[in-house]
Amino acid sequence: MEPNQNNQNRGGGGRPPQNSFGQNMMIVVIAAVLSLFLMNWGSSLMRDKSEEEVSYDQFYEMMESGEVEKVSIGSSEITIRVKEDSEKYPSMIHYYTYKMDYDPELLPTLRANGIEFAQEAPDTSGFIWDIVIGLVLPFVLIFLIMNFMMKRMGGGNGIMGVGKSNAKMYMERETGVTFADVAGEDEAKESLVEIVDFLHNPGKYRSIGAKLPKGALLVGPPGTGKTLLAKAVAGEAKVPFYSLSGSDFVEMFVGVGASRVRDLFKQANSTAPCIIFIDEIDAIGKSRNSRYGGNDERENTLNQLLSEMDGFDPGRGIMVLGATNRPEILDPALLRPGRFDRRVIVEKPDLKGRVNILKVHAKDVKLDKTVNFEEIALATSGAVGADLANMMNEAAIMAVKDGRKAVSQKDLFEAVEVVLVGKEKKDRILSKEERRIVSYHEVGHALIAAVQKDAEPVQKITIVPRTMGALGYVMQVPEEEKYLMSKKELEARLVTAFGGRAAEELVFDSITTGASNDIEQATDIARAMVTQYGMSDAFGVMGLAKTQDQYLSGRTVLNCSEDTAAEIDRVVKEMLQKAYEEAKAILAENREIMDQIAAYLIEKETITGKEFMEIYRRAKGIPEPEETEAAEEAKPETSGEMKAEAEPEQPGNTPQEGPEEELGEFREV
Ligand code: ADP
Ligand code: MG
Ligand code: ZN
Repeated sequence: MEPNQNNQNRGGGGRPPQNSFGQNMMIVVIAAVLSLFLMNWGSSLMRDKSEEEVSYDQFYEMMESGEVEKVSIGSSEITIRVKEDSEKYPSMIHYYTYKMDYDPELLPTLRANGIEFAQEAPDTSGFIWDIVIGLVLPFVLIFLIMNFMMKRMGGGNGIMGVGKSNAKMYMERETGVTFADVAGEDEAKESLVEIVDFLHNPGKYRSIGAKLPKGALLVGPPGTGKTLLAKAVAGEAKVPFYSLSGSDFVEMFVGVGASRVRDLFKQANSTAPCIIFIDEIDAIGKSRNSRYGGNDERENTLNQLLSEMDGFDPGRGIMVLGATNRPEILDPALLRPGRFDRRVIVEKPDLKGRVNILKVHAKDVKLDKTVNFEEIALATSGAVGADLANMMNEAAIMAVKDGRKAVSQKDLFEAVEVVLVGKEKKDRILSKEERRIVSYHEVGHALIAAVQKDAEPVQKITIVPRTMGALGYVMQVPEEEKYLMSKKELEARLVTAFGGRAAEELVFDSITTGASNDIEQATDIARAMVTQYGMSDAFGVMGLAKTQDQYLSGRTVLNCSEDTAAEIDRVVKEMLQKAYEEAKAILAENREIMDQIAAYLIEKETITGKEFMEIYRRAKGIPEPEETEAAEEAKPETSGEMKAEAEPEQPGNTPQEGPEEELGEFREV
């Protein structure tokens, strides 16, 4: 993977050579001109303001005035030091004059005036240094800076590599990855198996006259394993794998991207069958009708890619895979038949998928018998493969730090929390009063979750501060994987989110900044209920917002008139107010239990969901863990009920219960 490897491009590399040669020459010339300029400027600066040149005559005058203390005679100039107490000449200034070639009077005059003098050693290195500093150094610096900038701009090779393809650099003969390394993406794998088979024996398909796909586009959120899948396809097919990122093609020099594409396909052609993988293809494949800003260079690159894809003979066994998490901005031409005509959706893994991903990454990790992947998977709904791989590694590191030989379930849960809310911050000492506030705040969340039957069970409550800003939090884990959320569940979330603030107001009669994150979350939920899920009486089933990039942020934009937007704000505000009032009512009713648990939490710092529920049940007089249908404080909602039908739904429409599972976050401000 040495960048240099690249300079020895194959003979007859197909790219017009004068192109990059011209560009290199340009850069050399620019650097030379700039450094000449710098040199001039530099030498005028070399003598700073505190030095003054005097004429040879003046030099004699100075000597004879008796104000000179010392002179040192260099090869071309004489430096004069004036006496400290000199009246005529300020002694802060260094005086110098150029030396006469031959001046027999000089020494006698110096002696006569009692001036100390010294001869500087004839010193050619000074001259050489002048050249080095004045000419070579700026040149080198400018070259380095420009080279660095080129690299930053995606060339990867600096000035010398302009226009050269990075393809070889990224070529892997054997990826060594197989489908067994990719877990939880069964549908995606299934549609890629065909591609593997095709690369294995293209003849089989050709003889029957079947047209084969030239490319497939892997689409899905970041970290779900798109790159991994592409590598697995190459690994399974045992063919070379060229991997480039879309941004590798986009450079400052016009024509480079296109020539890179040409070069890439040429090289691929010589090693076929093989796979070309273009990651983040949206960087070059953005729609050309420039809603997202046009760019000639990018368009040229895209055009070149399109024409290469049209040009190659699928029978040769070249498969182009692309990956993106923003398919909606791709140019339609890329998706036409004969190009990326297959779309392979790589979803966030479901419960079973997460279990399997954990298993894949636990392959080389020693686990003790407490480990239960189902539990971890339940607690990590919304996490992608990259998160899970990361968690597994964190857990292993924790076990090592602890001096244990195997990873335990506790390590894994801790790792989940590290990924979700950061590491424990033990050195943050809260005051007694703050600890009380945080404790009540978190217990407020937890109690409301326990009381409401549509809320998710509490897994853990803690007031140990975390590095990502939480002073405490409640971790809730659903009993089973959810794909749909009912209105009641969302409403329960709203009330739970306000549990913290409600507890503060109730107990301390004052409120803190700690609820800011709760408020933000609740507002987002309420807004989505009104604008996306059709869950408000005021607007009914009217869709008021559009999703923008469903695989990335899932951001929505309002799609309604200004009047309606104002009305939405009013409705949302009402919903939030109602939820807050309800939270206060629930906590007021359960005040004693809240005091009890809060005191216990202050003492213990962290309590498990089990401990919490034991105290709760004892206080409520609920005997058996199985029969939790007692708590009926949540008033049943009569209007606008929604049945959670298991009808096929767009994945983007169910609220993603991302890793922000815990609602009880208590953030500092
Ligand atoms: P993407 O390209 O979709 O952003 P990557 O393929 O780069 O995601 O995934 C990053 C890492 O996360 C992988 O190297 C792998 O360790 C892990 N990973 C992601 N998805 C999976 C999966 N489905 N199965 C196993 N590991 C996965
Ligand atoms: Mg990737
Ligand atoms: Zn909170």
